[in-house]
Amino acid sequence: MNTTKEKLYRTVDDLRETILAINDFIHDHPELGNEEFQAVELLTHTLANHGFQVETGLAGLETAFSAIYQNRQGGPVIGLLCEYDALEGLGHGCGHNLQAASITGAAIALARNLGDIPATIAVYGTPAEETTSGKLPMIKAGVFDQLDVALMMHGGDRTTVDGKSLAMNMVEFVFEGKAAHAAVAPEKGISALDGVLMMFNAIEYLREHVRTDVRIHGVITDGGVVPNIVPDRAAAQFYIRAADRPYLDTVVERVYNAARGAALATGTQLSINELKTCENKINVETLNKLMLENAREAGIQEISPPRTSTGSTDFANVTYRIPGACLRVQFVPFGTSSHSKEWVAAGLSDEGHAAVLLAAKSLAGVGYDLIVDPSVLSEIKEDFHKAKEALFVS
Ligand SMILES: [Zn+2]
Ligand SMILES: [Zn+2]
Repeated sequence: MNTTKEKLYRTVDDLRETILAINDFIHDHPELGNEEFQAVELLTHTLANHGFQVETGLAGLETAFSAIYQNRQGGPVIGLLCEYDALEGLGHGCGHNLQAASITGAAIALARNLGDIPATIAVYGTPAEETTSGKLPMIKAGVFDQLDVALMMHGGDRTTVDGKSLAMNMVEFVFEGKAAHAAVAPEKGISALDGVLMMFNAIEYLREHVRTDVRIHGVITDGGVVPNIVPDRAAAQFYIRAADRPYLDTVVERVYNAARGAALATGTQLSINELKTCENKINVETLNKLMLENAREAGIQEISPPRTSTGSTDFANVTYRIPGACLRVQFVPFGTSSHSKEWVAAGLSDEGHAAVLLAAKSLAGVGYDLIVDPSVLSEIKEDFHKAKEALFVS
Protein backbone atom coordinates (compact mmCIF):
# COMPACT_ATOMS: atom_id res chain seq x y z
CA MET A 1 0.00 0.00 0.00
CA ASN A 2 0.93 3.60 -0.62
CA THR A 3 3.03 4.80 2.32
CA THR A 4 1.33 8.21 2.50
CA LYS A 5 -2.03 6.50 2.80
CA GLU A 6 -0.65 4.45 5.66
CA LYS A 7 0.43 7.70 7.28
CA LEU A 8 -3.06 9.15 6.79
CA TYR A 9 -4.63 6.10 8.42
CA ARG A 10 -2.15 6.24 11.28
CA THR A 11 -3.00 9.89 11.88
CA VAL A 12 -6.69 8.99 12.07
CA ASP A 13 -5.85 6.24 14.56
CA ASP A 14 -3.72 8.66 16.59
CA LEU A 15 -6.65 11.11 16.62
CA ARG A 16 -9.10 8.37 17.58
CA GLU A 17 -9.97 9.85 20.99
CA THR A 18 -10.54 13.35 19.59
CA ILE A 19 -12.64 12.11 16.66
CA LEU A 20 -14.81 9.79 18.74
CA ALA A 21 -15.24 12.44 21.44
CA ILE A 22 -16.75 14.71 18.75
CA ASN A 23 -19.08 11.90 17.67
CA ASP A 24 -20.20 11.13 21.21
CA PHE A 25 -20.59 14.75 22.31
CA ILE A 26 -22.73 15.73 19.31
CA HIS A 27 -24.75 12.54 19.72
CA ASP A 28 -25.41 13.29 23.39
CA HIS A 29 -26.20 16.98 22.79
CA PRO A 30 -28.65 16.86 19.89
CA GLU A 31 -29.42 20.30 18.50
CA LEU A 32 -32.07 21.18 15.93
CA GLY A 33 -31.32 22.89 12.62
CA ASN A 34 -29.93 26.44 12.90
CA GLU A 35 -29.43 25.91 16.64
CA GLU A 36 -26.33 23.70 16.44
CA PHE A 37 -24.22 26.07 18.55
CA GLN A 38 -22.49 23.47 20.71
CA ALA A 39 -21.59 21.30 17.74
CA VAL A 40 -20.14 24.25 15.84
CA GLU A 41 -18.19 25.38 18.89
CA LEU A 42 -16.61 21.94 19.29
CA LEU A 43 -15.86 21.42 15.58
CA THR A 44 -14.39 24.87 14.95
CA HIS A 45 -12.37 24.72 18.16
CA THR A 46 -10.90 21.34 17.20
CA LEU A 47 -10.08 22.43 13.65
CA ALA A 48 -8.56 25.73 14.81
CA ASN A 49 -6.35 23.76 17.20
CA HIS A 50 -5.02 21.89 14.19
CA GLY A 51 -4.13 25.00 12.22
CA PHE A 52 -7.35 25.62 10.28
CA GLN A 53 -8.55 29.22 9.75
CA VAL A 54 -12.08 29.35 11.06
CA GLU A 55 -14.94 31.61 10.06
CA THR A 56 -18.45 31.27 11.44
CA GLY A 57 -21.78 32.79 10.43
CA LEU A 58 -21.56 32.25 6.66
CA ALA A 59 -24.41 33.25 4.33
CA GLY A 60 -26.30 34.78 7.23
CA LEU A 61 -26.48 31.43 9.03
CA GLU A 62 -25.20 31.57 12.60
CA THR A 63 -24.32 27.87 12.68
CA ALA A 64 -22.60 27.63 9.30
CA PHE A 65 -18.82 27.70 9.31
CA SER A 66 -15.71 27.26 7.21
CA ALA A 67 -12.35 25.95 8.38
CA ILE A 68 -9.59 26.31 5.81
CA TYR A 69 -6.12 24.81 5.78
CA GLN A 70 -3.95 26.16 3.01
CA ASN A 71 -0.75 24.25 2.39
CA ARG A 72 1.60 26.40 0.27
CA GLN A 73 0.26 28.33 -2.71
CA GLY A 74 -1.96 26.85 -5.41
CA GLY A 75 -3.02 23.26 -5.82
CA PRO A 76 -6.56 21.92 -5.72
CA VAL A 77 -9.18 22.96 -3.19
CA ILE A 78 -10.75 19.90 -1.61
CA GLY A 79 -14.12 20.54 0.04
CA LEU A 80 -15.23 18.40 2.97
CA LEU A 81 -18.82 19.14 3.96
CA CYS A 82 -20.48 18.10 7.18
CA GLU A 83 -23.90 18.29 8.79
CA TYR A 84 -24.62 18.17 12.53
CA ASP A 85 -28.33 18.81 13.04
CA ALA A 86 -30.61 16.40 14.90
CA LEU A 87 -34.28 15.51 14.52
CA GLU A 88 -37.01 16.94 16.69
CA GLY A 89 -38.18 14.49 19.35
CA LEU A 90 -35.72 11.83 18.23
CA GLY A 91 -32.14 13.09 18.50
CA HIS A 92 -29.48 11.94 16.05
CA GLY A 93 -31.72 9.62 14.06
CA CYS A 94 -29.95 10.50 10.81
CA GLY A 95 -26.46 9.91 12.21
CA HIS A 96 -25.14 13.41 11.54
CA ASN A 97 -22.89 13.01 14.59
CA LEU A 98 -20.90 10.42 12.58
CA GLN A 99 -20.60 12.85 9.73
CA ALA A 100 -19.24 15.77 11.73
CA ALA A 101 -16.70 13.52 13.47
CA SER A 102 -15.40 11.70 10.41
CA ILE A 103 -15.14 14.81 8.23
CA THR A 104 -13.14 16.55 10.95
CA GLY A 105 -10.88 13.50 11.23
CA ALA A 106 -10.34 13.30 7.47
CA ALA A 107 -9.55 17.01 7.23
CA ILE A 108 -6.96 16.97 10.01
CA ALA A 109 -5.34 13.76 8.71
CA LEU A 110 -4.98 15.31 5.27
CA ALA A 111 -3.66 18.63 6.56
CA ARG A 112 -1.01 16.86 8.63
CA ASN A 113 0.30 14.75 5.77
CA LEU A 114 0.50 17.14 2.83
CA GLY A 115 4.22 17.78 3.22
CA ASP A 116 5.37 20.05 0.38
CA ILE A 117 2.37 19.44 -1.86
CA PRO A 118 0.31 22.58 -2.47
CA ALA A 119 -3.38 22.11 -1.68
CA THR A 120 -6.22 23.61 0.32
CA ILE A 121 -8.44 21.57 2.62
CA ALA A 122 -11.73 23.39 3.07
CA VAL A 123 -14.16 22.10 5.68
CA TYR A 124 -17.68 23.52 5.59
CA GLY A 125 -20.22 23.09 8.33
CA THR A 126 -23.65 23.11 6.72
CA PRO A 127 -26.52 23.53 9.19
CA ALA A 128 -30.15 22.43 9.19
CA GLU A 129 -30.05 19.69 6.55
CA GLU A 130 -33.28 18.24 7.96
CA THR A 131 -35.26 21.47 7.94
CA THR A 132 -34.32 24.67 6.13
CA SER A 133 -31.33 23.24 4.20
CA GLY A 134 -28.38 25.44 5.09
CA LYS A 135 -26.54 24.49 1.92
CA LEU A 136 -29.03 26.41 -0.21
CA PRO A 137 -28.25 29.93 1.09
CA MET A 138 -24.57 28.94 1.25
CA ILE A 139 -24.65 28.08 -2.47
CA LYS A 140 -26.45 31.32 -3.24
CA ALA A 141 -23.81 33.28 -1.36
CA GLY A 142 -21.09 31.58 -3.43
CA VAL A 143 -19.53 29.91 -0.39
CA PHE A 144 -18.52 26.76 -2.31
CA ASP A 145 -17.44 28.49 -5.53
CA GLN A 146 -13.71 28.00 -5.06
CA LEU A 147 -13.97 24.24 -4.50
CA ASP A 148 -12.68 21.77 -7.07
CA VAL A 149 -14.63 18.96 -5.49
CA ALA A 150 -17.08 18.46 -2.59
CA LEU A 151 -16.97 15.32 -0.46
CA MET A 152 -19.38 14.12 2.19
CA MET A 153 -20.13 11.04 4.24
CA HIS A 154 -23.35 9.74 5.73
CA GLY A 155 -24.09 6.75 7.93
CA GLY A 156 -26.17 4.00 6.39
CA ASP A 157 -27.38 0.41 6.39
CA ARG A 158 -24.74 -0.48 3.80
CA THR A 159 -21.50 0.97 2.51
CA THR A 160 -21.96 2.56 -0.89
CA VAL A 161 -22.09 5.89 -2.68
CA ASP A 162 -25.20 7.85 -3.48
CA GLY A 163 -25.71 7.25 -7.17
CA LYS A 164 -28.57 9.63 -7.65
CA SER A 165 -31.18 11.67 -5.87
CA LEU A 166 -34.46 13.15 -7.00
CA ALA A 167 -34.91 16.78 -7.91
CA MET A 168 -37.63 18.24 -5.72
CA ASN A 169 -39.80 21.33 -5.37
CA MET A 170 -41.46 21.89 -2.03
CA VAL A 171 -44.49 24.12 -2.57
CA GLU A 172 -47.30 25.58 -0.50
CA PHE A 173 -50.66 26.35 -2.11
CA VAL A 174 -52.93 28.75 -0.25
CA PHE A 175 -56.54 29.20 -1.35
CA GLU A 176 -58.63 32.10 -0.09
CA GLY A 177 -62.42 32.26 -0.22
CA LYS A 178 -65.13 33.92 1.81
CA ALA A 179 -66.49 32.84 5.19
CA ALA A 180 -70.23 32.46 5.71
CA HIS A 181 -72.63 30.51 7.91
CA ALA A 182 -72.62 27.09 6.30
CA ALA A 183 -76.32 26.40 7.02
CA VAL A 184 -77.91 29.87 7.07
CA ALA A 185 -76.14 31.51 4.12
CA PRO A 186 -73.94 29.05 2.22
CA GLU A 187 -74.65 30.95 -0.99
CA LYS A 188 -72.72 33.88 0.43
CA GLY A 189 -69.62 31.79 1.06
CA ILE A 190 -66.73 30.69 -1.12
CA SER A 191 -65.03 27.60 0.24
CA ALA A 192 -61.26 27.72 0.17
CA LEU A 193 -61.27 24.04 1.09
CA ASP A 194 -63.08 23.25 -2.16
CA GLY A 195 -60.12 24.78 -3.97
CA VAL A 196 -57.70 22.48 -2.14
CA LEU A 197 -59.82 19.36 -2.70
CA MET A 198 -60.27 20.16 -6.38
CA MET A 199 -56.53 20.58 -6.70
CA PHE A 200 -55.89 17.17 -5.10
CA ASN A 201 -58.32 15.59 -7.57
CA ALA A 202 -56.75 17.29 -10.56
CA ILE A 203 -53.34 16.03 -9.43
CA GLU A 204 -54.68 12.47 -9.25
CA TYR A 205 -55.58 12.72 -12.96
CA LEU A 206 -52.20 14.24 -13.77
CA ARG A 207 -50.41 11.39 -12.01
CA GLU A 208 -51.26 8.89 -14.74
CA HIS A 209 -49.63 10.93 -17.46
CA VAL A 210 -46.16 11.58 -16.12
CA ARG A 211 -42.97 9.52 -16.15
CA THR A 212 -42.75 6.71 -13.60
CA ASP A 213 -39.93 8.41 -11.68
CA VAL A 214 -42.22 11.29 -10.73
CA ARG A 215 -43.42 11.48 -7.13
CA ILE A 216 -46.14 13.93 -6.07
CA HIS A 217 -47.20 13.85 -2.44
CA GLY A 218 -49.24 16.40 -0.55
CA VAL A 219 -50.96 17.04 2.76
CA ILE A 220 -53.62 19.54 3.74
CA THR A 221 -52.06 21.92 6.23
CA ASP A 222 -55.16 24.06 6.71
CA GLY A 223 -58.62 22.73 5.97
CA GLY A 224 -60.77 25.25 7.77
CA VAL A 225 -61.74 25.49 11.43
CA VAL A 226 -65.25 24.12 12.05
CA PRO A 227 -67.83 22.61 9.68
CA ASN A 228 -70.43 25.31 10.24
CA ILE A 229 -68.23 28.09 8.85
CA VAL A 230 -67.42 28.01 5.14
CA PRO A 231 -63.59 27.96 5.24
CA ASP A 232 -62.17 31.26 4.00
CA ARG A 233 -58.64 29.89 4.03
CA ALA A 234 -57.23 26.48 3.19
CA ALA A 235 -53.75 25.36 2.33
CA ALA A 236 -51.78 22.33 1.19
CA GLN A 237 -48.12 21.50 0.98
CA PHE A 238 -46.71 19.36 -1.80
CA TYR A 239 -43.37 17.76 -2.57
CA ILE A 240 -43.05 17.28 -6.31
CA ARG A 241 -40.09 15.14 -7.43
CA ALA A 242 -38.53 13.65 -10.54
CA ALA A 243 -35.22 12.13 -11.58
CA ASP A 244 -34.01 15.28 -13.30
CA ARG A 245 -34.55 19.01 -13.09
CA PRO A 246 -35.56 19.77 -16.71
CA TYR A 247 -38.40 17.22 -16.61
CA LEU A 248 -39.42 18.19 -13.08
CA ASP A 249 -39.84 21.81 -14.19
CA THR A 250 -42.45 20.70 -16.72
CA VAL A 251 -44.32 18.63 -14.09
CA VAL A 252 -44.26 21.49 -11.58
CA GLU A 253 -45.87 23.78 -14.14
CA ARG A 254 -48.63 21.20 -14.70
CA VAL A 255 -49.21 20.92 -10.93
CA TYR A 256 -49.45 24.72 -10.78
CA ASN A 257 -52.01 24.60 -13.56
CA ALA A 258 -54.01 22.03 -11.58
CA ALA A 259 -54.05 24.50 -8.70
CA ARG A 260 -54.91 27.43 -10.95
CA GLY A 261 -57.73 25.44 -12.54
CA ALA A 262 -59.07 24.53 -9.10
CA ALA A 263 -59.03 28.17 -8.07
CA LEU A 264 -60.88 29.19 -11.22
CA ALA A 265 -63.47 26.45 -10.79
CA THR A 266 -64.17 27.33 -7.17
CA GLY A 267 -63.87 31.11 -7.39
CA THR A 268 -61.05 31.18 -4.85
CA GLN A 269 -57.85 33.20 -4.86
CA LEU A 270 -54.68 31.18 -5.11
CA SER A 271 -51.16 31.97 -3.99
CA ILE A 272 -48.27 29.66 -4.69
CA ASN A 273 -45.30 29.80 -2.33
CA GLU A 274 -42.13 28.01 -3.40
CA LEU A 275 -40.59 26.83 -0.14
CA LYS A 276 -37.52 24.92 -1.20
CA THR A 277 -35.92 23.48 -4.31
CA CYS A 278 -33.46 20.61 -4.52
CA GLU A 279 -31.69 19.62 -7.73
CA ASN A 280 -31.05 16.06 -8.77
CA LYS A 281 -27.58 14.86 -7.85
CA ILE A 282 -25.14 14.85 -10.75
CA ASN A 283 -23.56 11.45 -10.70
CA VAL A 284 -19.82 11.46 -11.45
CA GLU A 285 -18.88 7.82 -11.98
CA THR A 286 -15.12 8.34 -11.73
CA LEU A 287 -15.47 10.13 -8.39
CA ASN A 288 -17.86 7.47 -7.06
CA LYS A 289 -15.37 4.80 -8.09
CA LEU A 290 -12.55 6.63 -6.34
CA MET A 291 -14.66 6.87 -3.17
CA LEU A 292 -15.37 3.14 -3.12
CA GLU A 293 -11.77 2.19 -3.96
CA ASN A 294 -10.62 4.25 -1.01
CA ALA A 295 -13.28 2.75 1.25
CA ARG A 296 -11.95 -0.69 0.37
CA GLU A 297 -8.34 0.42 0.82
CA ALA A 298 -9.20 1.86 4.24
CA GLY A 299 -10.52 -1.53 5.34
CA ILE A 300 -14.24 -1.65 4.53
CA GLN A 301 -14.86 -5.11 3.12
CA GLU A 302 -18.52 -5.23 2.22
CA ILE A 303 -19.45 -2.65 -0.39
CA SER A 304 -22.82 -2.46 -2.17
CA PRO A 305 -23.70 -0.94 -5.55
CA PRO A 306 -25.11 2.62 -5.46
CA ARG A 307 -28.63 2.95 -4.06
CA THR A 308 -31.31 3.07 -6.72
CA SER A 309 -34.20 4.37 -4.64
CA THR A 310 -33.52 7.69 -2.98
CA GLY A 311 -35.23 10.84 -1.83
CA SER A 312 -33.88 14.35 -2.24
CA THR A 313 -31.01 16.20 -0.59
CA ASP A 314 -29.62 19.73 -0.50
CA PHE A 315 -26.18 18.23 -1.21
CA ALA A 316 -27.49 17.60 -4.74
CA ASN A 317 -27.59 21.37 -5.24
CA VAL A 318 -23.87 21.43 -4.50
CA THR A 319 -23.22 18.57 -6.95
CA TYR A 320 -25.20 20.48 -9.56
CA ARG A 321 -22.43 23.08 -9.55
CA ILE A 322 -19.24 21.22 -8.70
CA PRO A 323 -18.31 17.55 -8.80
CA GLY A 324 -19.35 15.93 -5.54
CA ALA A 325 -19.95 12.56 -3.93
CA CYS A 326 -21.23 11.21 -0.64
CA LEU A 327 -19.88 8.02 0.87
CA ARG A 328 -22.43 5.99 2.84
CA VAL A 329 -20.81 3.94 5.57
CA GLN A 330 -22.65 1.06 7.21
CA PHE A 331 -23.23 1.28 10.96
CA VAL A 332 -26.69 -0.31 11.27
CA PRO A 333 -27.92 -3.72 10.03
CA PHE A 334 -29.09 -3.82 6.42
CA GLY A 335 -32.68 -2.66 6.06
CA THR A 336 -32.76 -0.52 9.24
CA SER A 337 -34.69 2.63 8.41
CA SER A 338 -33.11 6.00 9.08
CA HIS A 339 -34.86 8.60 11.27
CA SER A 340 -35.39 5.82 13.80
CA LYS A 341 -34.48 4.96 17.38
CA GLU A 342 -32.21 2.22 16.04
CA TRP A 343 -30.12 4.82 14.23
CA VAL A 344 -29.91 6.96 17.35
CA ALA A 345 -28.68 4.00 19.45
CA ALA A 346 -26.17 2.86 16.82
CA GLY A 347 -24.55 6.30 16.82
CA LEU A 348 -22.73 5.41 20.05
CA SER A 349 -22.14 1.72 19.32
CA ASP A 350 -18.87 0.02 18.41
CA GLU A 351 -20.18 -0.17 14.83
CA GLY A 352 -20.85 3.57 14.89
CA HIS A 353 -17.35 4.29 16.17
CA ALA A 354 -15.78 1.97 13.60
CA ALA A 355 -17.77 3.65 10.80
CA VAL A 356 -16.55 7.10 11.88
CA LEU A 357 -12.89 6.07 11.76
CA LEU A 358 -13.23 4.12 8.50
CA ALA A 359 -15.04 7.05 6.87
CA ALA A 360 -12.33 9.46 8.04
CA LYS A 361 -9.66 7.20 6.51
CA SER A 362 -11.61 6.70 3.27
CA LEU A 363 -12.22 10.41 2.70
CA ALA A 364 -8.66 11.35 3.62
CA GLY A 365 -7.55 8.78 1.03
CA VAL A 366 -9.83 10.28 -1.64
CA GLY A 367 -8.56 13.78 -0.88
CA TYR A 368 -4.99 12.56 -1.11
CA ASP A 369 -5.55 10.89 -4.52
CA LEU A 370 -7.14 14.08 -5.86
CA ILE A 371 -4.29 16.22 -4.60
CA VAL A 372 -1.27 14.19 -5.75
CA ASP A 373 -2.50 13.29 -9.23
CA PRO A 374 -3.97 16.25 -11.16
CA SER A 375 -5.09 13.91 -13.96
CA VAL A 376 -7.58 12.24 -11.56
CA LEU A 377 -9.21 15.57 -10.80
CA SER A 378 -9.31 16.67 -14.43
CA GLU A 379 -10.95 13.38 -15.46
CA ILE A 380 -13.55 13.88 -12.73
CA LYS A 381 -14.25 17.41 -13.92
CA GLU A 382 -14.64 16.23 -17.49
CA ASP A 383 -17.07 13.49 -16.42
CA PHE A 384 -19.01 16.02 -14.38
CA HIS A 385 -19.45 18.37 -17.33
CA LYS A 386 -20.51 15.49 -19.58
CA ALA A 387 -23.05 14.21 -17.03
CA LYS A 388 -24.50 17.68 -16.64
CA GLU A 389 -24.74 18.35 -20.36
CA ALA A 390 -26.49 15.00 -20.85
CA LEU A 391 -29.27 16.20 -18.56
CA PHE A 392 -30.33 18.87 -20.97
CA VAL A 393 -30.25 16.73 -24.09
CA SER A 394 -33.36 14.66 -24.56
ZN1 LIG B 1 -32.23 12.72 7.64
ZN1 LIG C 1 -28.99 12.81 7.05
